[in-house]
Amino acid sequence: MPIGKVTIFDVPGVPFEIGELPTPEVEPGALLIKNTHAVICGSDLHIWRGDMPTHSNRIVGHEFTGVVHTLGKGIETDSLRRPLNEGDRVAFPFFNPCNRCYWCIRGQFHACPHRSRRKDLESHPFCDGGYADFYYLPPGHYVFKVPDELPSDAVPPVNCALSQVLYGLERAKMDFGDRVVIQGAGGLGIFATAVAAEKGASRVIVIDGQQPRLDLAMRCGATDTISLLEYPTAESRVERVLELTDGVGADVVVEVVGIPAATLEGLDMVRVNGKYIDIGNIGEGSIKFPAAKIIGKQTQWFGTTHYDPWIIEAALQFLVRVQDRMPLNDVISHKYPLEEINEAFEFAEWQGREGGTTANRVALTM
Ligand SMILES: [Zn+2]
Ligand SMILES: [Zn+2]
Repeated sequence: MPIGKVTIFDVPGVPFEIGELPTPEVEPGALLIKNTHAVICGSDLHIWRGDMPTHSNRIVGHEFTGVVHTLGKGIETDSLRRPLNEGDRVAFPFFNPCNRCYWCIRGQFHACPHRSRRKDLESHPFCDGGYADFYYLPPGHYVFKVPDELPSDAVPPVNCALSQVLYGLERAKMDFGDRVVIQGAGGLGIFATAVAAEKGASRVIVIDGQQPRLDLAMRCGATDTISLLEYPTAESRVERVLELTDGVGADVVVEVVGIPAATLEGLDMVRVNGKYIDIGNIGEGSIKFPAAKIIGKQTQWFGTTHYDPWIIEAALQFLVRVQDRMPLNDVISHKYPLEEINEAFEFAEWQGREGGTTANRVALTM
């Protein structure tokens, strides 16, 4: 089996270690991917900072794409029965549902408790991960060919950011004509803006502290923006959302900020019987508020992690359809080679905090 470069995360504050490991043996029904592009997502930064303390001694990264390196015995097509060959560009979920559990048999692949793929290097000492040269898709995986029209640069966010918000809005059944608030205009927020606009939202109101991100949101379908500089308090932002929604509140609010205070604030922006989609808050932080706040308002709260396999294909087709109209590729602002992963993380962290140029997505190339 080929040997590939790996970057190993152990504990927060210690740089990634760069090394080399062999790839796993390709079983029948499996696929080995040669990674080409990855990006740093907000949740990778959560891990790097230590907000999610269970990720030691492993290869992290989950927004990435690549080409087929080795087809396992019996694999001749992608998950839509289109012929698949070595060298073809592919997109895939970075987690694999087990296909044999209580959730999977109900088609709830996003909720399969056995889906996690981030094994530590002690139990799985292979070049197999996002921030590495190779990724192994075991038997039972889902994989989709990337349409020729799409540049490879556009594909890594399909694996998380785009699919995550697309699935959140599908799951909450956002309706045509809904007024939607997006809290946060990082990568997920920009994609959520674009998807809500394409799904027929009558208003897409985007909230962020960085003007370049808000400007990008306007070019990707936002109708209004609320800047944290202009509206510095939670109360003033809630008030502004009410003004923009005739005093009613938003039908749908999407949280992609990743801090508990945002959820507390966002719940006040939802109309009575409206929907709150919480995606960003995956860290260990807690939120405290009176239960009546959501019961009295009959808020429908959708905690959302991961997505079902069909979302990947829907996301790819969406990107093809809007690529001439929406500058979604601008979500990626800077590129580093994989060996410079430590610099890339430092830069992504600085950019997110201090005022980046666009939407806080730093890419790595292999
Ligand atoms: Zn399962
Ligand atoms: Zn992500």
